[in-house]
Amino acid sequence: SIPLGYFGGIGAGSRQGILFKGSVFLDLMTQVKTVVMDKTGTLTKGVFRVQEVNPVGIDAGTLARLTAALESKSTHPVATAVIEYARVNGDDNAFGNVPVEAVEEIAGHGLKGRVDGKEMLVGNAKLLRKFGVAFDEALTRIPYTVVMTALDGTFAGYFTIADEAKPDATDAVKRLQAEGIRTVMLSGDKSAVVEIVAKQVGIDEWHGDLLPEDKVAQVERLKAEQAANPKAKRRPAKLAFVGDGVNDAPVVALADVGMAMGGLGSDATIETADVIIQNDEPSKIATAVEIGRATRRIVW
Ligand code: ADP
Ligand code: MG
Repeated sequence: SIPLGYFGGIGAGSRQGILFKGSVFLDLMTQVKTVVMDKTGTLTKGVFRVQEVNPVGIDAGTLARLTAALESKSTHPVATAVIEYARVNGDDNAFGNVPVEAVEEIAGHGLKGRVDGKEMLVGNAKLLRKFGVAFDEALTRIPYTVVMTALDGTFAGYFTIADEAKPDATDAVKRLQAEGIRTVMLSGDKSAVVEIVAKQVGIDEWHGDLLPEDKVAQVERLKAEQAANPKAKRRPAKLAFVGDGVNDAPVVALADVGMAMGGLGSDATIETADVIIQNDEPSKIATAVEIGRATRRIVW
């Protein structure tokens, strides 16, 4: 039979909008020594806004219209920003009538397709490098997320876009650190942007420019480092990962405790997760750990 303390813990979780998919995960919370978090949508709002448009050899309106036409095939938060910009600044949804064919979404890179009869790329520096399109490397160092566009193999300009940290992200990191937990942020976004968020929220360790498979490799490395720690012998140290996106499902599965932020979360990630945070507040990650630890004190 399950000790009453566990029901108390699961109930306390559900009152806070935290769903433990079994008492085993409540218990594992007491062993978590590393919490790894995704950036976009987990520690930041995941709502990007276009700051500036910089066309090259094309007028700004045409660049926005063609880029938004291709981005309308994606649900990525970056795509939403470009579409919103074109909607507000363009002549009524003009991008909706642009013919778009042969669209491919390349994870961690962006999109490729035929737009208005031209071969088009919309994405980050990795995408343009992958297809051999030349651009100014200084763009990789500016502290904004940059959406670059190429038409028929030639750089056609870029949009700078920005997201912001959630108001309770700093509190979440502080409370996890107070529990003796190492905090890590992983992101597919560019390192110059990830660094700014990292400093703002006070996270212990961070890595940017990661492809989905690089996130898997980072979590494997962190698990191995933790297992090698001699202090971990008596009660093995566990790792939790918190993410929200489709790309996060493999790392959610790999973590000892996989957690999903439910507010914006993808179905695949929510299904794979052991613990679901039903709103968008990262402080609930710390609350989940605190409930786990308080429950153990009652059960033992
Ligand atoms: P994360 O969730 O960690 O931010 P993703 O793998 O979802 O990482 O995306 C990484 C990067 O790939 C984004 O920051 C962006 O530069 C680029 N990207 C992905 N999808 C798109 C898209 N639809 N349009 C433009 N850029 C994209
Ligand atoms: Mg993501």
